[in-house]
Amino acid sequence: MQQTRRGLLRTLGAAVGAGAVLSTGVGTVAADEEPSLAWEPAGDSNYTAAARGPADVRWFVVHVAEGTHDGTVAWFQDPNANGSTHYVVENAADPAQTRMLDESDIGWHAGNWSYNEASLGIEHGGYTDQTTFVDGLYDASASIAAWAADAYDFPLRVRRYDVAPCDPTDGAGGVIGHDQVPDPDNCSSGGGAGAHTDPGSTWNWGRYEGYLRRNHLGTYQEVVTAADLNVRDSPGLGGTSVDTAPAGTTGDTVDGPVDADGYRWYEVEYDDGTTTGWSASDWLLYSRFGAWDDVTTTAALSVRDAPGLDATTVDTTANGETGTVTDGPVDADGYRWFEVSWNGGTTSGWSAGYWLE
Ligand SMILES: [Zn+2]
Repeated sequence: MQQTRRGLLRTLGAAVGAGAVLSTGVGTVAADEEPSLAWEPAGDSNYTAAARGPADVRWFVVHVAEGTHDGTVAWFQDPNANGSTHYVVENAADPAQTRMLDESDIGWHAGNWSYNEASLGIEHGGYTDQTTFVDGLYDASASIAAWAADAYDFPLRVRRYDVAPCDPTDGAGGVIGHDQVPDPDNCSSGGGAGAHTDPGSTWNWGRYEGYLRRNHLGTYQEVVTAADLNVRDSPGLGGTSVDTAPAGTTGDTVDGPVDADGYRWYEVEYDDGTTTGWSASDWLLYSRFGAWDDVTTTAALSVRDAPGLDATTVDTTANGETGTVTDGPVDADGYRWFEVSWNGGTTSGWSAGYWLE
């Protein structure tokens, strides 16, 4: 498989040990430019031809394929599949990315006709509740979603509904999992017809959202680096590198964006002793919360002595408990974790950010 330009850049960046640290002048995919996707059309009997436009598409539905990228592409081309999505992405550092339907056509993926009519669907290679999804997949999928959100005018926002609205024209629209699509026969139940549970517990919504929103950061937004990332004294590859922010460094955007040299740049005031300066958004993930943010739980929530599912549970919060973030994010075991100091009698510790607002 031919390496994508983005993948080539990542490889080069890693080789010099610092993410987007390049002075080769090789072009990259500018923010929200249409991604380069292979075209492998789904079988004619597996979708509904239509003439949808931006007014019709409100949702972007995330799936896990229960198989590989190649197997999924082949299946949607099989006349007996009775299913299809617009996109299929491989779980790999430099993933295969395939478009199988024109966005104007209606895929059969949500198990709910009105949601099919109102959405784009994307399959990811892997198995629900089992696969560890890699950054290459989140990066590629988020690039597709960001382009589609711009082209089809839906909000580039992860929606944390238990179940999305019964009528897909209600609610704000945005990015949801198949498990959040209402059952057409019982709108209080999720997963569409057949109660699908993908993308499941190993899909890190926080990290995916970090990639989704990296090119759309406002000022004073919390960010976290996805790789060792160059910090420069001005936006662009010509800026002098003044420091390197190790992967996982947090900070706040204080200026930008500036588009230069094929990247989108933000000035970041980094925590942990890293110099303030300009970094490329490809590896600068939106973080949702940072230190001193006030949060409220949306469910009873385990509190652990370290980030990750292997850490000891030291307490449980009530639904609706309030607190203040003191550390994080740390991405582990399919969740984005934050350390929270709780206002009530609950012990301070690490909890999964999905159930914080
Ligand atoms: Zn699904």
